[in-house]
Amino acid sequence: MLRYNPDDVASDKLVHLDTISGKSLTYGGLRKRAAHCAWGLRNKLGLQVQQIMLVFAPNCTDFVLLAHAIWWSGAVLSPLNTASTVKDIEHVLNLVGPTHIAVAPPFVEKVIEAIRGSKLAGSRAPTLCTLLERHGDLPLFPEDVEGTSSAESLPPWDLDGMSSKEAVSSVCFSSGTTGLIKGVKLSHYSQIMNMIQLRVSMPTRIHSGMREVFFPPFGHIYGVAIIMLTGMWVGAFFCTMPSFDLPTYCALMQRHRATDMHIVPPVALLLTTSPIAQSHDLSSVRNIMVTAAPLKPALQTKLLTRFPDADIYQGYGMTETCPALTSQHHLTATNIGSVGKLVTMTEARLVDPSTGVDVRDGEEGEMWVKGPQVMMGYINDAAATRAAFSDDGWLRTGDILRRDGNGDYWVTDRLKEMVKYKGFQVAPSELEDLLLGHPDVVDAAVCGVYVEAEATEVPVAYVSLVEGKAGVVGEERRRVLEGIRGWLDGRVGGYKRLRGGVHHLQELPKTPSGKILRRELPAKVKAARMAK
Ligand code: AMP
Repeated sequence: MLRYNPDDVASDKLVHLDTISGKSLTYGGLRKRAAHCAWGLRNKLGLQVQQIMLVFAPNCTDFVLLAHAIWWSGAVLSPLNTASTVKDIEHVLNLVGPTHIAVAPPFVEKVIEAIRGSKLAGSRAPTLCTLLERHGDLPLFPEDVEGTSSAESLPPWDLDGMSSKEAVSSVCFSSGTTGLIKGVKLSHYSQIMNMIQLRVSMPTRIHSGMREVFFPPFGHIYGVAIIMLTGMWVGAFFCTMPSFDLPTYCALMQRHRATDMHIVPPVALLLTTSPIAQSHDLSSVRNIMVTAAPLKPALQTKLLTRFPDADIYQGYGMTETCPALTSQHHLTATNIGSVGKLVTMTEARLVDPSTGVDVRDGEEGEMWVKGPQVMMGYINDAAATRAAFSDDGWLRTGDILRRDGNGDYWVTDRLKEMVKYKGFQVAPSELEDLLLGHPDVVDAAVCGVYVEAEATEVPVAYVSLVEGKAGVVGEERRRVLEGIRGWLDGRVGGYKRLRGGVHHLQELPKTPSGKILRRELPAKVKAARMAK
């Protein structure tokens, strides 16, 4: 069972403040109410040990309370990105089979439509409740669920004889190395161990004095690991925003004298360039962690200039590892832009993916890892789980790194298909499948291109067109391609839009077996342009 709220944190200390509803939670309140809400989840909503509750809601205090109540009751938290479309939700329902769903009112109709189209329609339909506001007759969490007396309270779940390595605590989502979104099964053991790994590796950065304004979504492992677990375990204070906007973020940080930031590179860029960020007093900030996507050396240097009193460090990890794998421990002139060293209790190899042979220091290889934070596997997907691990149990990260003579790691490339837009995963094969449904498209391939000015990758599509359209040129071709882009953008969650545009290619580069050579795409388009 995940334990938190150490005894030396005052029970009336504020743990969480919701910037929208104004609701708040104290450490003592969270502990008591998690027990009462766990009772209600079990007795009023019928949520049983190790059943899965999907949560589809923006960052808010009730989400935090619900997550802890789910764990307290022995059930499994599965937080889903609110940008998911009906089709995405349908896929997740079929894959994960949740017995319960907590959903914020704006998304109720979407979820109901997805249930109707899924394998869970009919007698297996999940029990629904809402968060934040009422919607029709659905019970509202916590108002209609929470017990009120000590008799209406569950003791914390004691694993029921299971090992903490077998007991699932969360199912988070990732597209892994290839294909569609998968459910990453994390055990109680792994999530607890990753908190300990972070704390032991970074004692000065993870402590009870942390005060943070937090915007990354709770639907991502980043939110679960930082806000719901590590921060609360050490007695930190968090004020959360449902989504990022720079003026609000800066104003809240100034008001709450924030000490810590957990951000992604595009936000780091805004903080160093925007006049809005310059006009706020952010001098209370002491620790800035940038992760989820590459923080280039030039940007890290700019951050150091903007926040001279802060410890600025880059971390690297993935949903499949709870997420932390490495972190810059001590910044020096030579490791700026690296992802630093392995967190404690983690083993890594850098391997030539074609031969499985370890490369030497200074050479690039796929990072393979072992450690207590490594996932149990992908839920209901034995083939993907098998493919993710080597025969002797190393998790293949799908990322290419190099290690220098000081033991610092540098992410240099990505072997897996995933595109990362502002820290959010975009699975190329999902967009390709959709594009193939467009009447003008014969073949399609999607990859990421890095946009320096925004400090992020964006997805870009390459298509070959049907006969009548393949020959069109100039303005007409531009219209066809823009039409395809608009068509796709209307069918996907906002962060998956083809911000890098749609390009035409007579023929897509493929291996003899028909696998798309995504890495060759940008060069092909350039060559086609030059040939004109
Ligand atoms: P997610 O599971 O959504 O956290 O995505 C994990 C992936 O994000 C990793 O496998 C990397 O490809 C990428 N990633 C995470 N952190 C970094 C970083 N600091 N630098 C480069 N890529 C990163």
